Amino acid sequence: MTEQQSALPVAVIGAGPVGLAAAASLLERGLEPLVLEAGAEAGTAVREWGHVRLFSTWDEVIAPAAEKLLAPTGWQRPEGSTYPSGRDWAEQYLQPLADALGERVRYGVRVTGVSRAGRDRVVDAGRDKQPFTLQVTTPEGGEERILARAVIDASGTWNTPNPLGGNGLPALGERAAADRISYRVPDLNDPVVRARYAGRRTAVVGSGASAFTVLAGLAALAEEVPGTHATWVLRRGISDDTFGGGEADQLPARGALGLRAKAAVDAGHATAVTGFRTESVTREGTGVVLTDEGGRHLDPVDEVIVLTGLRPDLTHLTELRLGLDERLQAPVEVAPLIDPNVHSCGTVYPHGAKELSHPEPDAYLLGMKSYGRAPTFLAMTGYEQARSVAAALAGDHEAAARVELILAETGVCGGSGLFDEPGTADGAQGEGGCCAAPATVQIGGPATGGC
Ligand SMILES: Cc1cc2nc3c(=O)[nH]c(=O)nc-3n(C[C@H](O)[C@H](O)[C@H](O)COP(=O)(O)OP(=O)(O)OC[C@H]3O[C@@H](n4cnc5c(N)ncnc54)[C@H](O)[C@@H]3O)c2cc1C
Repeated sequence: MTEQQSALPVAVIGAGPVGLAAAASLLERGLEPLVLEAGAEAGTAVREWGHVRLFSTWDEVIAPAAEKLLAPTGWQRPEGSTYPSGRDWAEQYLQPLADALGERVRYGVRVTGVSRAGRDRVVDAGRDKQPFTLQVTTPEGGEERILARAVIDASGTWNTPNPLGGNGLPALGERAAADRISYRVPDLNDPVVRARYAGRRTAVVGSGASAFTVLAGLAALAEEVPGTHATWVLRRGISDDTFGGGEADQLPARGALGLRAKAAVDAGHATAVTGFRTESVTREGTGVVLTDEGGRHLDPVDEVIVLTGLRPDLTHLTELRLGLDERLQAPVEVAPLIDPNVHSCGTVYPHGAKELSHPEPDAYLLGMKSYGRAPTFLAMTGYEQARSVAAALAGDHEAAARVELILAETGVCGGSGLFDEPGTADGAQGEGGCCAAPATVQIGGPATGGC
């Protein structure tokens, strides 16, 4: 690296939990971060789901490097064993952390492109000697270029939810029915949102923690407002692992979510439809009708909530030489560690700079974005990624290789990669079913209880 290059900041895209943790880790290593956040505040994405309670405790969502940075500011650490909402996480931790970083965080700055200065993706000559250049839009609506010695993209996947279509494309008619479709967990305490679902029929599409949250919320609403009912639409059959790890989940609140969803079905507030891969959505009377690839129609519903996962937006990264797995769109060495086709119970292994590196040196995807389409990301994984990558950028390769995080297991059973033929319905154990007993996995050691 040239002297000129090493004087440049490390650009961090996104002031979410992981981008801010990366900035704190970089500072700890004596490197200067510059965090570029599209929104007006820290944790812009987290605030959008601020009404949702995390299944992790405060102890599990505070980065060690961030805590060190916050300690001298008089920051009051929330009680570690309690569960924050997204809003709590943003207001009581992310914003104070961003404030502690001061002018190193710029708001209203959206990154629209990243390249090597003077080199497009094709050019080899002198490539590694060139700094990165980031094209950004500014709050005033202008454009600007920012030079950086390295780039950490921690921009998450929140803004690119998967569509309704079972084949990954928007279902036929999905755009035309947009007024009836939401891709978010509704805030049922908000009177306007509540009125949208109270006493009405809602199709809830998806089988992860967000779908469980909605099923539980609609069931509670149904107890108060008769006529509230959910049709729970699953691509797979229902099996022992459909509702997650339950009481065996090492994150008890995550396990409890699945149990609440099961209670919603058992109480008749939700009817499960299995083996349904949505092909189209059509209006019928006052409702909408979902039809699957086999021509099966569901009864009309008033609303549809699509919670089929998230995918990374890679459009601003096309000039970089990234090594991404063709299925998950995660870094190639990370993908096998998190592949939902294999790790159907959330058997996710911690990892660091080595696994996160790309053919383009000093460019990294961290946080939710590093998981591509895999649904099993935990904040702690991102904090460990941040620590390791900061160490690598500082030249401390020994520390970068030393990954010490222990992750909780069980919970996201039957990930998005699993496929059941429509015929394999209730009671069937889908391909890649639940792993053995929950286990503790430590990098460098054997994975006990894996699939
Ligand atoms: C509903 C929900 C509940 C969750 N609960 C838990 C939990 O209990 N425990 C747990 O460990 N994990 C949980 N997660 C998973 C994960 O920890 C969070 O999604 C976390 O917010 C991921 O952090 P991140 O920094 O990677 O991305 P994000 O929080 O998505 O932050 C990305 C940031 O980048 C900004 N951005 C995006 N594009 C650009 C751009 N082009 N230019 C500039 N800025 C940009 C966004 O505005 C945003 O502020 C949950 C996720 C969701 C959705």
